Amino acid sequence: MSFKDFQFHPKVNAGIAAYGYTSPTPIQKEAIPSILAGRDILGLAQTGTGKTAAFVLPLLQRLLDGPRKRVRALIVAPTRELAEQINDNISKMAKETGLRSIVIYGGVGKQPQIRTIRAGVEIVVACPGRLLDLLNEKAFNLRAVEVLVLDEADHMFDKGFLPDIRRIIKQLPKERQSLVFSATMPKEIRHLAEEILRNPVRVQINHTLPAPTISHALFRVAKKQKTSLLKSIIHEREMTTTLVFTRTKHKAKSLALHLQKAGYSAASLQGNLSQQKRQRALDGFRDGTFKILVATDIAARGIDVLGISHVINYDVPDTAETYTHRTGRTGRATRTGQALTFAGQEDSKMISLIERNLGKKMDREVTPAFACEAEKDVREEKNTRFSRNMPRRKKPAAAGRGKSRRSRACSCDFGISKPVQQ
Ligand code: AMP
Repeated sequence: MSFKDFQFHPKVNAGIAAYGYTSPTPIQKEAIPSILAGRDILGLAQTGTGKTAAFVLPLLQRLLDGPRKRVRALIVAPTRELAEQINDNISKMAKETGLRSIVIYGGVGKQPQIRTIRAGVEIVVACPGRLLDLLNEKAFNLRAVEVLVLDEADHMFDKGFLPDIRRIIKQLPKERQSLVFSATMPKEIRHLAEEILRNPVRVQINHTLPAPTISHALFRVAKKQKTSLLKSIIHEREMTTTLVFTRTKHKAKSLALHLQKAGYSAASLQGNLSQQKRQRALDGFRDGTFKILVATDIAARGIDVLGISHVINYDVPDTAETYTHRTGRTGRATRTGQALTFAGQEDSKMISLIERNLGKKMDREVTPAFACEAEKDVREEKNTRFSRNMPRRKKPAAAGRGKSRRSRACSCDFGISKPVQQ
């Protein structure tokens, strides 16, 4: 199947050409014909599958006919970054169509947003909070909306937006087309989908399977050596654009600062930053000013930056699903990428879950020095546990000590298959 089969208007085809897409991705093949036929859609797909174009292209085709300067399509997204990204996609894809869009979210002035909407736009991309604010202030209304898109619905639920979403939906005409996209399907989203979709077509694209274009490697490393390992990997490998994930906002900030001080072009993306700073970090990462972006899961969810060569899990994610989300930032569409995960003994359970989800073992990679420290970490932990539970013993005799030290010496194997050059 090629894009020609959809018989898009030449002005829409110009948008596809602007991106240089040659053939549709699986979700585009499945979803576009149904959306063009006016059906409601429940799309189970994660970011990285091409889902944005899957709804934007048929949306543009539909809006080409009909009145202008009215809000005819509403796209709701859970984060500012995702909303910005969708809007960027629309601006580029819609260039020849003359259709206009606006992105609205909080943390920036309302007036410019209100002025742009009133000047006349056909597509609004919005985060729920600011959208409701503007609707409550009667800055504009949704009476002419023909198509509603809810993107990353599961993430809306995570962020507590479902009551807002229901308030927004009440203001929409009953007669409309609705498209709901979600990477996962918790029961809350299933209920929401049942409420708002009419006889939907269900489109499911390997939502729990990571992209096959990614290679996965595991590094055993002690906590205190993660930063040194990171620097040594960045130094050794050809890393064009690297996204590093940490568990906490504080760590994202301090690690980015540390890398900057060490001379790397790095920035952080985390929830404590102002919207302006977040945007600066993201834009800088996109245009290559920053080669390394250190981010938390929430801040990075949905971000779409082409050509990310490496995703590094500085901290192991909390769920196997989050691993898929994180690593889905690389190897997008047709490109290849590498996912590197730093793990200590305490992460073993999560690593097994991730590997079960991947359907294979990650490649064990290691620099011997770091593996030794990781092994020491395990020994120290065991010793602490041991000494906590057992009565103190006399120190062994000097002659025996050498032997015992040797027997404890670092083996550095960890079942490692591929050593990394130091
Ligand atoms: P998305 O899942 O919408 O975030 O898209 C993931 C990435 O795939 C983005 O960089 C898109 O520009 C890209 N993409 C979308 N559709 C195609 C396609 N048909 N061919 C190649 N790349 C695509």
